[in-house]
Amino acid sequence: MSIRPPGWPPASVTEGSCEQVPPRWATLTVISMLALVNAENVEALLVDGERVVALGSEKRVLARKPRRVIDLNGAHIYPAFADRHAHLSILAVQATTLDLTRVGSLDDLAEAIRGFDGPVVLGRGWDESRWGGEVPDRTYLDSVERRRPVVLVREDGHVAVLNTKALDIYRPKGDVDRQRGLVYEEAVSSVMKQIPMDRERGVREALTAVVREGIVELHDMGMSVSWWKTLMDAEPCIEIRAYFHTDWDALPEGHGNLRVAGLKVFADGSVGAGNAAFSTPYADGRTVKPFLTRARVHELARKAESMGLQLAVHAIGDEAVRTAVEGLRGTPGHRVEHFEFVPDGYLEDTSLLEHVEICMQPNFLKWASPGGLYETRVGSEWAGKCNPIGALHGRVQLTFGSDCMPLSPRYGIRTVVNASCPHQRLCMEDALSHYIRAPLVEGGEASFIVTDGTLPDCEILTTIFRGRAVYMRGDIRKTLIIHKCIM
Ligand SMILES: [Zn+2]
Repeated sequence: MSIRPPGWPPASVTEGSCEQVPPRWATLTVISMLALVNAENVEALLVDGERVVALGSEKRVLARKPRRVIDLNGAHIYPAFADRHAHLSILAVQATTLDLTRVGSLDDLAEAIRGFDGPVVLGRGWDESRWGGEVPDRTYLDSVERRRPVVLVREDGHVAVLNTKALDIYRPKGDVDRQRGLVYEEAVSSVMKQIPMDRERGVREALTAVVREGIVELHDMGMSVSWWKTLMDAEPCIEIRAYFHTDWDALPEGHGNLRVAGLKVFADGSVGAGNAAFSTPYADGRTVKPFLTRARVHELARKAESMGLQLAVHAIGDEAVRTAVEGLRGTPGHRVEHFEFVPDGYLEDTSLLEHVEICMQPNFLKWASPGGLYETRVGSEWAGKCNPIGALHGRVQLTFGSDCMPLSPRYGIRTVVNASCPHQRLCMEDALSHYIRAPLVEGGEASFIVTDGTLPDCEILTTIFRGRAVYMRGDIRKTLIIHKCIM
């Protein structure tokens, strides 16, 4: 017998998101689970309000006399994800602009520009390593589009290319190569600020994309005060911790699920943009120094500490990583973001890293393969040594984030599980342990995802945050069989 209670799941939760939160699953039992990380022989899970109150065999859980039973019909359950390095503004821009993350050639790029409907062609997500390394420039863009301004931001956000029309209209300030139409860092934001967009729609769609990926906790690493206001109005139903890219005295207040966590600063740029700081020269002979001194990092960390906030230092090249780690010495509990190229000595003696939290991006391993972006820019030795996640696991305070490249914990887990070098690779369980909000335990928070198979090669059917469904895939009703109280 299987009876679906009238009106449940409510029609409004189909393809639901933060806007469409269904009634709290006051008491439910999920049965027929096949997989649950960190627990063996778990067949069922009993949720009461925000908590998991029982976990174990079906018999044991049913003995707690649940009011409702939901048969997952063979689906799997995992703890919900925490993406500890992402950018909601990037996702919002992506949602309302030209998505270039799947463009695989310059011809495809041209076609995408021509096919975009709108007065300004704002695109995001190109990566020249997908088509052999030729960076699109002003002349190329002019050959494709002269009438409308074209602004295309690289996947890493550190560099953008503009056509002549866009250069004339937006007049970017800062690091600008007008000849090639390339603008870097602050110059990218000076252009972006001038392009009108529907921020409300962008934020709503970004939050929908987040819960669709099974993410219930997101650390935004570069929030601005104006985006924060839009986010406050959207009232996200998941936890957002924001690290602002602004001055201390400009920090706003948090509210509800929105927390002001700290400040984000840059010790360098990225390998893709050619401004990550290494102790050795790039393949073309250039050397890049860190953007900050150790003393400056230390001063910022002390200030954060005095305000009860956390400092997050972006550091990719080994020289920047050393600056961040040494600058944070004496102020425990701050973060280093990316940590891709580890300075000599740290892997051998990880006690040197005890005072920092390290947030890495397993998906960045996609640039480490032979002949890939990292090898081309900084040589095969560095490429082989980058992102030593396997070597750091269990020895440092490690968490994962996607940096929206792409926004997908499943993609990151798949990448690190399949990494070719043992010092970069993790097993599925270890990879997942760095990407979850909290393990599912009795008495713990009921935040989990329902999937149609085992991670990472599966689809996410439902995302639950503190006992509430914040996302349900459209066809979920065919999967769930909901019984009325059977006890
Ligand atoms: Zn980032």
